[in-house]
Amino acid sequence: MFTCRNQSCGADWKLSDVNIHNEGQGLLFRCPMCGARNYVTRRRTKDGETTYAQVTEFPPNGKR
Ligand SMILES: [Zn+2]
Repeated sequence: MFTCRNQSCGADWKLSDVNIHNEGQGLLFRCPMCGARNYVTRRRTKDGETTYAQVTEFPPNGKR
């Protein structure tokens, strides 16, 4: 479950609700409700499944 980081939105989304892609500064999805960028990191479980974790720090990865 992801939560839109736009505080006036705050919508919750499942992985299947969002389109995760890279706009050049790392993986992110655009909130389907407000369009805010929400950064995520890709993780791989030991079963070989790909999962995503939301990045809550800003700017992500210490980059601008
Ligand atoms: Zn939003």
